[in-house]
Amino acid sequence: MLINCTRCGRPLSPRHSQCDHCSALNDVPNVRLAKRPEETTALDTSYSTVLGSRTAAQRVAIEAVERFIVHEQHVAIARPAVEVANFLSKPNSLYQNYHQQVFSNGRYAGTGPIDTIRIQFENAALPNLADQIVFGSLSVAGRGQPDFGNTTMILSPDACKPRTTFFWGNPWVLSKTMRILVGETFPMGLRSTWENGYKLVTCKHHAEIDCKSLSPLECNDLLNAPTASGDPEYIEAHYWNGFPASVVSKIVFASSSGPSTSEILAWEIIQESVKAMHSHIVCEEV
Ligand SMILES: [Zn+2]
Repeated sequence: MLINCTRCGRPLSPRHSQCDHCSALNDVPNVRLAKRPEETTALDTSYSTVLGSRTAAQRVAIEAVERFIVHEQHVAIARPAVEVANFLSKPNSLYQNYHQQVFSNGRYAGTGPIDTIRIQFENAALPNLADQIVFGSLSVAGRGQPDFGNTTMILSPDACKPRTTFFWGNPWVLSKTMRILVGETFPMGLRSTWENGYKLVTCKHHAEIDCKSLSPLECNDLLNAPTASGDPEYIEAHYWNGFPASVVSKIVFASSSGPSTSEILAWEIIQESVKAMHSHIVCEEV
């Protein structure tokens, strides 16, 4: 799956944004994947088919949700409070994904059924890239996806725009439901650039939007409603590589979810770190 440099036309490394031949800076690798003509054509075809199947009143409701997504979408990364507290405890630390933490000996590799084969289904969505991607969710109304921890980091849209793509759902859940086997990749039309996130939302959720007028929080609930099987459901955000705390604009702690004493303590540590070192971050309890 080689993509050519936009300046010199020679093949780009799938893992680099800078051309090895002419040094031109191209889009980051996951954005290049989402911009391939076969991807954008597949998404646009699904999107047109969906809109064509809806009534005029349904399209009005869909347009209202789309406007909201375009103006309010964020990347949200929900993690346990202790992990976020560790990340913010130093002024220059870098938030890393699971693979980067394991490879740098920052954590033990998990031994559960998901962690042991994580690279397989993540690479089916992001060939040769999964170990460089931070996984989050498309969020609105400053809320995150609650299945991965009660503390959500909301990233600055300006930082996200050039390095974020969206994917239909969690690759583990999708590979089960779509029966993606080892060695296969996902079909086209399941990913978008930052700018086209609203098309994925409409393609995935048009039946649930129907004619309803949704509030911001209802819109977020729609994106994050659990599946009948109990698997986490959301539109996944793929953020190219680790990030510093300066990229985090807000941290939301779900105090209503019954946090443990250690989580409450971690939340206090987070707020102290923000005050001392990261004063641009807004802290909120919900
Ligand atoms: Zn080049």
